[in-house]
Amino acid sequence: MIKYRLKCNNCDKLFDSWFSSSSEFEKLKSKNILDCHFCNSKDIKKTLMAPNILNLKQKKENEFKNKKNLKIQKKILEFQNFIRDNFENVGDDFAYKARSLHYNSKTNTKGIYGNATKKQISELKDEGIETQIFPWIENKKN
Ligand SMILES: [Zn+2]
Repeated sequence: MIKYRLKCNNCDKLFDSWFSSSSEFEKLKSKNILDCHFCNSKDIKKTLMAPNILNLKQKKENEFKNKKNLKIQKKILEFQNFIRDNFENVGDDFAYKARSLHYNSKTNTKGIYGNATKKQISELKDEGIETQIFPWIENKKN
């Protein structure tokens, strides 16, 4: 269904009308079935589509986007919980700790996670220490 705002050329009044498709309007008009709700003139023209149709479409797109974002956010949070449970948070000491783990090669240590700058990460990479970067959402409750 499409809602069009129609305008009467005779009395200049606007009114909304529903059509099953855009071609239905043309069909009805060519058969002289459309008339003004106020003066019954057949001299009707189509104006821009009623704005609420456009808004509805926009709203749906936004809802879809928000749902998608929530899904991604949920995945990240699940991953963060996994990291928290299985890795040691070393905070800003990440680069230092990553090196000591790498060079001491203890077998039974927990993995680590923490903060590192882009420079530190590329330095670690140069030394053959692979790191994983992933988005982190700060949980205000903690
Ligand atoms: Zn009219």
